[in-house]
Amino acid sequence: MYPRQFEYSAPASLDEALAALANNPAAKVMSGGMSLIPMMKLRLFSPAVVVDIGKIGGLDSIEDRGDHLAIGALVRHVATANSPLVQQYAAALAKAASLTGDPQVRNQGTTCGAIAHADLAADQTAAVLALGATMVAKSTGGTREIAAADFFVDTLTCALQPDEILVELLVPKAGAGEGSAYTKLGRRGGESDYAVAGAAAWVRKTNGSVDAARVALTGVGSKAVLAAAVGDALVGSDGSATAIEAASAHAAEGVNVLEDLHGSVEYKTHLAKVYVQRALTAALT
Ligand SMILES: Cc1cc2nc3c(=O)[nH]c(=O)nc-3n(C[C@H](O)[C@H](O)[C@H](O)COP(=O)(O)OP(=O)(O)OC[C@H]3O[C@@H](n4cnc5c(N)ncnc54)[C@H](O)[C@@H]3O)c2cc1C
Repeated sequence: MYPRQFEYSAPASLDEALAALANNPAAKVMSGGMSLIPMMKLRLFSPAVVVDIGKIGGLDSIEDRGDHLAIGALVRHVATANSPLVQQYAAALAKAASLTGDPQVRNQGTTCGAIAHADLAADQTAAVLALGATMVAKSTGGTREIAAADFFVDTLTCALQPDEILVELLVPKAGAGEGSAYTKLGRRGGESDYAVAGAAAWVRKTNGSVDAARVALTGVGSKAVLAAAVGDALVGSDGSATAIEAASAHAAEGVNVLEDLHGSVEYKTHLAKVYVQRALTAALT
């Protein structure tokens, strides 16, 4: 199917792109186009103007800024997945990026694009929630930071305003005793394709005891969500297999699990528990 007619704009600078968005309330940003173009072909999105930021320089780096990593708007999934910095300091995100789509998608799509797209079964959304990342949004009106916990609003809906560009993602660097992991059941079995259910976990252990933990789920509801009850149950424990199993039993607590084409509420609730247990086990190792 062809998309509806639209105007295409490819600004050479961020300022031009922000001005184009400010002047066209019905415009949409395009980064890699891996989700926007299919959505336009299906006529789920029909923007009057597409503002392609793909040709703007200076947005494709991963920087070490001391206590956090900054991942630019045009960093592709493959770059996030293969970055030694992301692998070392934010393992859950590197793994989630490595499991996003197929090689073509990973070579073209961007980490920030996947976050902004806010698909209910996306991989990197769960990772940024568990890692406690911050999104940096820019418009002609200024810059604002949005915590991952406040970013995902609903299916394909995030906290960005139509005139804002997600210019970078700030991810806290794992310190001593901290670990993170991501795992999923993909729609084509194993870890291929979008998540039927996926879990990301971040854990900090001090003097043999878990003193902080954050777990996020994807694929089981209308958006990626924090499974807060798991973290609460794990904190104070020794992080043993028994403690992980007990905490994982809380995976779906407070989470609005929904049935879809890929599974019933009962099945997804079960998967949430299984994948939280696996993610926690990997994060703690
Ligand atoms: C065949 C196929 C398989 C896939 N499999 C998976 C999978 O297994 N797991 C998974 O998680 N995803 C999967 N995806 C989705 C895809 O990887 C991402 O959603 C996509 O790469 C998003 O990044 P992009 O740069 O291509 O964004 P685009 O397609 O350019 O944009 C997507 C949306 O985000 C907005 N947007 C993009 N960048 C910004 C920005 N910087 N600021 C503000 N808004 C922005 C756009 O306006 C649009 O609404 C798959 C896609 C395809 C085509």
